[in-house]
Amino acid sequence: MYVDSHCHLAFPELNARLDAILADMRAADVRAALCICTAMDEFESVHALARAHDNLWASVGVHPDTEAMSEPDVDWLCERAARPRVVAIGETGLDYYRLEGRSIADMEWQRERFRVHIRAGRRTDMPLVIHTRQASDDTLAVLREEAAGAGPAPRGVFHCFTESMDVARAALDLGFHISFSGILTFKTAADLRGVARYVPLDRCLIETDSPYLAPVPHRGKVNTPAWVPHVAHLIAELKGISVPTVAAATSDNFEQLFRVKVPEPA
Ligand SMILES: [Zn+2]
Ligand SMILES: [Zn+2]
Repeated sequence: MYVDSHCHLAFPELNARLDAILADMRAADVRAALCICTAMDEFESVHALARAHDNLWASVGVHPDTEAMSEPDVDWLCERAARPRVVAIGETGLDYYRLEGRSIADMEWQRERFRVHIRAGRRTDMPLVIHTRQASDDTLAVLREEAAGAGPAPRGVFHCFTESMDVARAALDLGFHISFSGILTFKTAADLRGVARYVPLDRCLIETDSPYLAPVPHRGKVNTPAWVPHVAHLIAELKGISVPTVAAATSDNFEQLFRVKVPEPA
């Protein structure tokens, strides 16, 4: 079985055909998925998916991308994190890809939003789903700063990993998992395939980040969790191990990290 550790099933283009997607997942032996929240006003629809389906779970968080957005505080996150079937805080992190004329100093709002999520993750002892794009130094620096003091250390996953070997090593040293998406199958991702070869299997997760980033051979289409096996196949090829080994390990890792049990198919 496979598990998609990161998808956006509450986005309208996927939610509108949810029954077909769930059927495609069953046909592809994709047994479960984590539905990721990106905005405060999206949480209820993400949570509704997880309540309605015993193989879907929800996160709670606000994506780093948009500045003009309702800003959550630690209490707001923790309150929702305590609801049934919410298993992670995020997606959160730093994204300096779209600076749009702003300097990195101007992005303090983003770092502050990230700190709020890390504090909620520590208070609830829940894993963080971390998004980092062209901001890996600051992502690691903020995580290290926030790890100080008593209480559980921040933990979680660097999702849709596209960073260097050094960043992978630093994330692993901090105890984080690393999740690979369909980007791994792109022709241009040779360096990333090197990273995937290096990351120990017991710290790997797989994801689609659907509706984005459809893997080869579906590039350009609307991605769905049913295509996560393509990522597992490539990891197996890179590591020279069997696909069932990768499928089983990444599913086990998912269950352990998010403290859930994937249900047996009916
Ligand atoms: Zn992301
Ligand atoms: Zn995402």
